[in-house]
Amino acid sequence: MTATRPAEVAIARTREELSAELDGLARAGASVALVPTMGALHEGHLSLVDRAHTLADAVVVSIFVNPLQFGLGEDLSRYPRELSRDVELAASRGVRLVFAPGDGDMYPEGAPIVRVKPGPMGEGLCGRFRPGHFEGVLTVVAKLFGLVRPQVAVFGRKDLQQAALVRRMERDLDLGVRVDVAPTVREEDGLALSSRNAYLSPDERRHARAFHRGLVRADEAFQGGETGRRALTSLVESEIRDHAGLELQYVELVDPETLVPLETAGRGSALAVAGFSGATRLIDNVLLGADAPDPGVGRPTSVERAR
Ligand code: AMP
Repeated sequence: MTATRPAEVAIARTREELSAELDGLARAGASVALVPTMGALHEGHLSLVDRAHTLADAVVVSIFVNPLQFGLGEDLSRYPRELSRDVELAASRGVRLVFAPGDGDMYPEGAPIVRVKPGPMGEGLCGRFRPGHFEGVLTVVAKLFGLVRPQVAVFGRKDLQQAALVRRMERDLDLGVRVDVAPTVREEDGLALSSRNAYLSPDERRHARAFHRGLVRADEAFQGGETGRRALTSLVESEIRDHAGLELQYVELVDPETLVPLETAGRGSALAVAGFSGATRLIDNVLLGADAPDPGVGRPTSVERAR
């Protein structure tokens, strides 16, 4: 049974409940925007919901902590799970349906044997440090597209490599979903919102600001005329080196769509960083040049081109 909340958000925990809700939306002639998440919703996720409302009639949020995308020793078992709070937040932003399947509903045959391989775009950046991660992400996103059949799906640019890979998967496999990418929502001091920020101690939280501060320094240098990869990445590195509790994994200059490494930055090139504050892994990025367009905006997808 699906339960209807006062704010009229429905919750589907199984495939059957999902299809019943989607049938209702189809009968009403509503187009659907999907916002896939792992829950522990914050203002970053909710900004995707707000954007999704501008792109379709009904917004569906999926909440699924996908075991396939966690490596050995990562935080799968302690990842925050707060479904009733998430549902309240979703309802407060006008979400029509929360799809929160269990592992057995998402993977009824057990771990899938046919999976989506990210290829070379999954090998650099985070892919170098999280083997198998993007295969897990793309596989679950392809399944969510198949289960929900949205017209549009909204992803955050905070996860730059994920967004680029999902867009590429959609084109390569013609999944028929417009993939939209939204800007990063930050705390007042610049730290990108993340469900994992909850793991940070007050000291680790304070140090974590350096990731964004380094990116801002590099962006300022770019706007002052510096375009060399080495000079720009060094600015981020030196900001992070100043903090004893931080450990840098990478800082790289790439094209935000193709993820190809760049030696020379142009307007809209991405500077991406990943590292640890204490035991918590954090990622962030900027598109150099303040008025650079988001990679997800303004470029027609295969669906739009076909219309
Ligand atoms: P997650 O629940 O971490 O898997 O994230 C779900 C979606 O929210 C992904 O598309 C993320 O890129 C996006 N997201 C996470 N944090 C932020 C943020 N601070 N600003 C905008 N989008 C975000």
